[in-house]
Amino acid sequence: MTLEERYRKVVERVRAAERAAGRPEGSVAVLAVGKTFPAETIAACAAFGQRAFGENYVQEAAAKIDALAHLDLEWRFIGPLQANKSRIVAERFDWVESVDRLRIAERLSAQRPEGMPPINVTVEVNLDGEATKSGVSPEELPAFMDAVAALPNLRLRGLMAIPSPDAGPETYARMRRLWDEARARRPELDTLSFGMSADIEPAVAAGSTQVRVGSAIFGARDYGKH
Ligand SMILES: *Cc1c(COP(=O)(O)O)cnc(C)c1O
Repeated sequence: MTLEERYRKVVERVRAAERAAGRPEGSVAVLAVGKTFPAETIAACAAFGQRAFGENYVQEAAAKIDALAHLDLEWRFIGPLQANKSRIVAERFDWVESVDRLRIAERLSAQRPEGMPPINVTVEVNLDGEATKSGVSPEELPAFMDAVAALPNLRLRGLMAIPSPDAGPETYARMRRLWDEARARRPELDTLSFGMSADIEPAVAAGSTQVRVGSAIFGARDYGKH
């Protein structure tokens, strides 16, 4: 399959998942995750109409964002973020989806250049307890969301989660419950970033508003460089 065929197939998969879940057409967005793939591949995907791209590695992402500055793309950081790289992210990205430490959130807010709009953020939630290390625990989530929402140059938009590969139906049910509770507390939240190549369908059924899809669009990754 070509890149275009894989891309169109993913979009059709998301539309089918929306229908199966009884959700309106277009209620779930696709974030194309281009980590490890070169700027030319991102540009090729953008030519099919895709605007939002996700990246995990700060240096790699910064080079691509700068190389593709002539295109009107939206960039979302979705990887683990170290404090010493937060400035590069604050200066370039439209969204940071993997916020799970207040210290990093504070740095992003402080380092956002004057004149740029606030950084949209989702809080990464830890759905599987011991199985995954990143993410805020469900118990800490309400207070953490309040602290992030209070930062001047961040705009809290919702939640993000990465289920462990062996997650079962109870994990998806937990996500749905946490998302319902978060929106009951903060009705302005509009983004649940949930679902990847392997679990688009259960994630959409659980209420995802954006799936983050890498390999199903771009093919298998070669991690040799990382
Ligand atoms: C790499 C990555 C994805 C995409 O994963 P695929 O299984 O290739 O679709 C999604 N979310 C995060 C946080 C990732 O790191």
